[in-house]
Amino acid sequence: MKGLGVSQGIGIGKAFVIKKRELNVEITHINDVDAEIKRLNTAINLSKDQINNIYLKTLKEIGEKEAQIFKSHEMMLEDEAFINEIKEKIKSEKVSAEYAIKEIANIYINMFDNIKDDYLRERADDVKDIIGRVLHNLLGVQTTDFSKMKENSIIVAKDLTPSDTAQLDRNKVLAMITEMGGKTSHAAIMARIMGIPTVVGIEGILDFVHNNDNIICDGKTGKVIINPNKKQLKYYIQKKLNEEKINNELKKQTGLPSITKDNYKVELFSNISTPKDVATVLENDAEGIGLFRSEFIFMNRDCQPTEDEQFEQYKEVLEKMNNKPVIIRTMDIGADKEVPYIDIPKEINPFLGYRAIRVCLVNVDVFRTQLRAILRASVFGNVKIMFPMISTMKELKDAKIVLEEAKQELKKEGILFDDNIEVGIMIEIPSAAITSDQLAKEVDFFSIGTNDLIQYTMAVDRMNSKLSHLYSQYHPALLRLINNVITNAHNAGIWVGMCGEAAGDFKLIPVFLGMGLDEFSMNAPSILRARYIIRNLKKKDMENIAEETLNLETALDVENYLSNLFAEEEDSHFNRRSKGSN
Ligand code: PEP
Ligand code: MG
Repeated sequence: MKGLGVSQGIGIGKAFVIKKRELNVEITHINDVDAEIKRLNTAINLSKDQINNIYLKTLKEIGEKEAQIFKSHEMMLEDEAFINEIKEKIKSEKVSAEYAIKEIANIYINMFDNIKDDYLRERADDVKDIIGRVLHNLLGVQTTDFSKMKENSIIVAKDLTPSDTAQLDRNKVLAMITEMGGKTSHAAIMARIMGIPTVVGIEGILDFVHNNDNIICDGKTGKVIINPNKKQLKYYIQKKLNEEKINNELKKQTGLPSITKDNYKVELFSNISTPKDVATVLENDAEGIGLFRSEFIFMNRDCQPTEDEQFEQYKEVLEKMNNKPVIIRTMDIGADKEVPYIDIPKEINPFLGYRAIRVCLVNVDVFRTQLRAILRASVFGNVKIMFPMISTMKELKDAKIVLEEAKQELKKEGILFDDNIEVGIMIEIPSAAITSDQLAKEVDFFSIGTNDLIQYTMAVDRMNSKLSHLYSQYHPALLRLINNVITNAHNAGIWVGMCGEAAGDFKLIPVFLGMGLDEFSMNAPSILRARYIIRNLKKKDMENIAEETLNLETALDVENYLSNLFAEEEDSHFNRRSKGSN
């Protein structure tokens, strides 16, 4: 059977089937409204206590970000408007609390279900999780009991709620398989963080599988085999051993320089959103932070963070990084990143609209405050400033004027900072890429933001799943632009990095290496594999390969060309031998 692999790895174990009791809530009329509301309050309070316990367990065993999911569940049960709607229904229609809560929740579930965006649609699962818990408590029925689970279990369920996932004992669960769910459901996100191989979306699997059946689950390919034969079992045991070998091999890369066989050194950096992410950056031995998306400090709050609040966060990152470079990108809000306290009117084309540096150059006070906070933090480590979404020389010069003002203010106030702080820009708009020879004269470095550069080069909204076939990092148009930017940067004597997702694409790393990219900034878990790849290549050979890709005609041609060169042995790049090297 085949589903969608959402968390890599292979699990071989015994099925632990979760068949949740469907709660059938029929319309029931009541006489005593006060007693019914009291029942509702008791169930809500009990649910909040249970959710809080799950929150604490998640915080301790998984992490703060994942634990926040349960804080938001708790908040929903504290949302007066939502609870009052339920109470109002009980009062006006004299119906049971179960019925009222189910009906009101359905309105929200349907609303989320009809949203096109995958991430938001999957929030319907959160509402179902919360309401399911309150209903169980109202009816006095136990929710799933995971305590009976034995070691080496592979969970098979219709759906797993985030609270189910959080309660799992990582030592007992080898993999998870569900009939429902998507890549960005919270359960999938948590499975990835917990490192549990997971396949979702295998409709009807519960009709075929029984407790204690032997199961193989491949979280990469999405393949699931129930009661495998000897040949299949042998194949997957070998595959799993290979995976373990690879992981052990990768760990040996820790501490080694990111240098090619012909002594060309590059830097492997990581992207972060909050100071908390620094832990995984250090765990994976990244050599610096190539993109700190500082806008996350400004989001999910109802007033602007003060200069001191920002300073503390930047300082925390710099101290933890212990003098390794940290590139702080100034606030990149607008489009999909909203902040309620800055006036960003609704636009027809928000991705082509008022966002990032454009917002900062209008809200100069907000911008200057951020720059002051970064400058003040600069004495605690090796920090660089990067401006996002630069499309013209004028914007860059204007941004630099505000930076200069911030420096002058601090000087007057006698506050110390690094006056030679490096300043760079993101190259993520074609106009900047095309004029990068000129822009390079004004900055110390570039960082290529492929996520946006693809969308603006190909004229494809990066969030539009219908057009995702056109949104490709392999397209020769993009590769030619990148090649030009790197050449222009080097001609002007500055270094150039990349912080878009393409920087962590194992097939493209050799190409960018050949083009001469100096720094690659990616998600922390990709660092050691990227280092392994780089240490096994010769820069000289990659120059020819990069040149070849520029002459191909389609994204598919490029992808196939690279796949053939770097033998896509399903489970690793470790059998890869570049045809050009050795
Ligand atoms: C990019 O556009 O490539 C980038 C790194 O920025 P973001 O994804 O935050 O827009
Ligand atoms: Mg961007």
